[in-house]
Amino acid sequence: MKNYKIAAIPADGIGPEVIAAGLQALEAVARRDGGFNVDVTSFDWGSDYYKKHGMMMPENGTDQLKDFDAIFFGAVGAPDVPDHITLWGLRLPICQGFDQYANVRPTKILPGIQSPLAGVGPGDLDWVIVRENSEGEYSGHGGRAHRGLPEEVGTEVAIFTRVGVTRIMRYAFKLAQSRPRKLLTVVTKSNAQRHGMVMWDEIAAEVSKEFPDVTWDKMLVDAMTVRMTLKPQSLDTIVATNLHADILSDLAGALAGSLGVAPTGNIDPERRYPSMFEPIHGSAFDITGKGIANPVATFWTASQMLDHLGENKAAIRLMRAVEKVTEEGIVTPDIGGKATTKEVTEAVCEAIRGENI
Ligand code: NAD
Ligand code: MN
Repeated sequence: MKNYKIAAIPADGIGPEVIAAGLQALEAVARRDGGFNVDVTSFDWGSDYYKKHGMMMPENGTDQLKDFDAIFFGAVGAPDVPDHITLWGLRLPICQGFDQYANVRPTKILPGIQSPLAGVGPGDLDWVIVRENSEGEYSGHGGRAHRGLPEEVGTEVAIFTRVGVTRIMRYAFKLAQSRPRKLLTVVTKSNAQRHGMVMWDEIAAEVSKEFPDVTWDKMLVDAMTVRMTLKPQSLDTIVATNLHADILSDLAGALAGSLGVAPTGNIDPERRYPSMFEPIHGSAFDITGKGIANPVATFWTASQMLDHLGENKAAIRLMRAVEKVTEEGIVTPDIGGKATTKEVTEAVCEAIRGENI
């Protein structure tokens, strides 16, 4: 029997609540299929660890993770630790250390879930956003001079490389090609940003020649928010920079009903290192400990993880179970329901064990 070694990093806020739920669903689907086993090791890294040790994870943290088959991540963020410390201390070192350069964010309206867009239902919005995850606006370059003085200057430098842009573009075209509509939208801001962004447009045109069966177009990121809102049916696969896709995918999550249902895979397509799967949302300390965190994003990302591991049948089964439960209206308050995290999780595990899933 196949045995997958999974590193769980629940981290902060509602992270531990949704990761516990996700692990329960993974267990249930592994038991139902019988063909594989998930062997989970949990790491207590995050803001509490930081308060004790002065760092979010041990110095050899990524070394400890490198032999796992995948990483299952909750969220970081605490009211009393600055966000740049939690993010740069844990999540980004893993993404960048393992060169997880493709951040893949599927969005669709699940059955029973209401989009805030009038007249838009399941089938009208079925996207995958591919976010460049290794460079761009989040490459960490920049600086501050004359701190606190009137002449203070701060810079954030966005770095785009031919290698980095070509590989994400190729990934996005390939993904678009694998989907029924074979449609890709390349997002930039190449009217105002005339260097790296123009390079994105040029590389998109070059890579498109390798994929003659994919229909593609270009959008400026500001106009893209309008198209996502007013013509969701016109989009399918989307590729954008680290910052642009970060923003667009929060919008996508909201248009699909809630941030609480939106999943992410941080993928190393070359499979040199473990990939990392997490809900898009943060630590949500406004609802931490209340037992009402929506576990659907975490179930969905667990399904992405199974798919990445090659357990496609189990991945589909898990999503079918989630869809059955949302359709029945067993959902948390963020999407208009009354159910608790525990009730949704039990319903999903029950559905996994059922006959028709
Ligand atoms: P957030 O995603 O934590 O919360 C935004 C809103 O959505 C809140 O009202 C929250 O209650 C709600 N929400 C989020 N997930 C939910 C779920 N599963 N079920 C029900 N409701 C849910 O974003 P924020 O409030 O901007 O940030 C809180 C902290 O999280 C900050 O410290 C931020 O830096 C961090 N953050 C971390 C990540 C990450 O770890 N990947 C992502 C985003 C934000
Ligand atoms: Mn974000």
